[in-house]
Amino acid sequence: MKIDGACQCGAITIEGEADPEKTQVCHCTDCQAGTGSAFRVSVPVPGATFKMTGEPTLFLKTTAESGRPRLQAFCGKCGSPIYSTSPGEGVQPSYMVRVGILRQREAFVPRRQNWFRSAQAWVTGLGGVPKNEKAAAG
Ligand SMILES: [Zn+2]
Ligand SMILES: [Zn+2]
Repeated sequence: MKIDGACQCGAITIEGEADPEKTQVCHCTDCQAGTGSAFRVSVPVPGATFKMTGEPTLFLKTTAESGRPRLQAFCGKCGSPIYSTSPGEGVQPSYMVRVGILRQREAFVPRRQNWFRSAQAWVTGLGGVPKNEKAAAG
């Protein structure tokens, strides 16, 4: 399906095509540090369909838990993670776009969880944690 999205400040926008069935969660410690959260949710977007406006800040993470170097792109103004891809010149075969920046984020339900050995123990029990519909009072 067609997707589009933007970082929090709007300096970077993306468009492309993605298959919701390929939505995945990554619990690796790089993703925990890179999101400031417990896990990352991404979906692959073929390079042939991927379009972007704005210039993301790039960070080459050479010690990924997988052992493969990955280029991490994020907005240098607001910090929103945008995608990761393989390092190299020109258009890459695939971009792992961060689902939280997509306007269609609700269609992208995770189908797989990777690096579960480093998952935070509480992630499977989140449904039982008391919920506020908006921000906590006080
Ligand atoms: Zn931004
Ligand atoms: Zn990861």
